[in-house]
Amino acid sequence: NYLATRLAAGSAENRDAAFLVLPDLDRHITYKQFFAGSERIARLLSDRGLAAGDRVLVYAPKSATSLELYFGCLIAGFVYVSINPGLPIDNMSYFLSDVEPKAVVCGEKDRVAMAREAEGSGAHLFTLDADETGTLIDARNAVEPGFQAVPREAADIAAILYTSGTTGKPKGAVHTHHSLWSNAEALVASWKFARDDVLIHALPIFHLHGLFTATNVVLASGGSCRYLPRFEPKAVLDEMPVSTALMGVPPFYMQLLETRELEQAAKNMRVFISGSAPMLPQTHRAWHERTGKTIIERYGMTECSMIASNPYDEARKPNTVGFPLPGVTVRITDVKSGETVENGHFGMIEIKGPNLFREYWNKPEKTAADHTEDGFFISGDFGRYDADGYLSVLCRVKDAVFTSEGTVLPKEVEEILDEDAAVAESAVISVPTPSGSAAPVAILVANPGAQIDTERLKSAVDAKLDAFKQPVRYIPVGTMPRNAMGKVQKAALRETYATCLE
Ligand code: ATP
Ligand code: MG
Repeated sequence: NYLATRLAAGSAENRDAAFLVLPDLDRHITYKQFFAGSERIARLLSDRGLAAGDRVLVYAPKSATSLELYFGCLIAGFVYVSINPGLPIDNMSYFLSDVEPKAVVCGEKDRVAMAREAEGSGAHLFTLDADETGTLIDARNAVEPGFQAVPREAADIAAILYTSGTTGKPKGAVHTHHSLWSNAEALVASWKFARDDVLIHALPIFHLHGLFTATNVVLASGGSCRYLPRFEPKAVLDEMPVSTALMGVPPFYMQLLETRELEQAAKNMRVFISGSAPMLPQTHRAWHERTGKTIIERYGMTECSMIASNPYDEARKPNTVGFPLPGVTVRITDVKSGETVENGHFGMIEIKGPNLFREYWNKPEKTAADHTEDGFFISGDFGRYDADGYLSVLCRVKDAVFTSEGTVLPKEVEEILDEDAAVAESAVISVPTPSGSAAPVAILVANPGAQIDTERLKSAVDAKLDAFKQPVRYIPVGTMPRNAMGKVQKAALRETYATCLE
């Protein structure tokens, strides 16, 4: 079995070591126990009639058993499909009809509603909860141990993960055994993961960040996870003295910076990695000042897993995501001509490599439309290489402001606003103008106790930017709307302020 065999090889010599430590439940799961549990789940679902290629839909809170289920699906050749359990249950009809699963796993609180949604589909329904209880666990414990792994090739489907739905309805990205393996291998090497690493795992596992990036990297290197149900600054600080690595989204780092214990706790940590959303350079710099360690910012997306990362041994530059990973090609193209632009110029980020997804599930037109003739995936992100070859992700194409006088990249305005002492963070969005064009509007969150001074912001912006790039309104808000991965929901902001220039 292509992927399972390769991932399991990472712990071939330390099967009695803890793979998952669950501080909340005061127990741990060794590699041996983890693989045995996975085999039992594979057997259970096979006994219920699932065959290779069948989908297993998971809409459940984070648990260790969910990871056994993921690995069990790999060895049996089932397709693991995870859905954000934070999405309201009434979204389920879309996912159920898209995926047509043979088994569905959800939390106990959703059991009745899910049974209603899945009625008539013939899918087997199991429950699974964060406290490691549920009918999946009972059924797993009732089957015989052992399972003969089903052979799978590099190109076979391993999993379908849905995109975050930041720019539209979530799309199912189909990953193969090889797309996932190639990425795990590249990341283990790039971030120097080894058997003695201990990763603080505080991310959700419905998303590629917590599932593939974090989990596969630890499996492939034979290290261990301090596996937390969710991110809480205090809990993460408590784990740091016995851990070596943290993978997080920018708000993790922003919240940890607000604690007083940070410098003491972080002393023995080897590496801090951030992604899924842009990290403010202020956060990057403050982290270095407080801990003496420099965050590795990297760039990924559901369709491509990890694409680029700041280097381990060379300079880690804020506001950049470093270099393409080994084997991955990233080019920047002019949106109109499609030609590759020179370093220093911005354009569409296009990606090619073994990390790419196979297709959008059930969306052949979308798959075709998002690829170039020569096989590059069109990311929908604007980016730029600097003179040293570091890549920056500037914004989503959908978040750029296309005014009648030229394109405004929100980041170039936000950077100036964020330098103001009163501003904690800013989001520049595109708002329609009465004349039928668009103009930038700034949404601002103030630092605690500070007052936004619009005149001061205007003159700072005026000193650095052409008139058409300057926000036409400055709107203070209490907090930025964010999703579970810490992404600022610019589409929601655009909706809220759609008529603010009328
Ligand atoms: P959807 O595709 O449904 O609109 P989404 O693009 O937010 O949702 P994900 O696949 O979770 O879904 O996120 C990938 C996106 O996250 C990238 O395309 C990029 O815009 C953003 N991203 C990830 N890492 C970084 C980073 N380090 N800096 C800036 N943006 C990042
Ligand atoms: Mg996307």
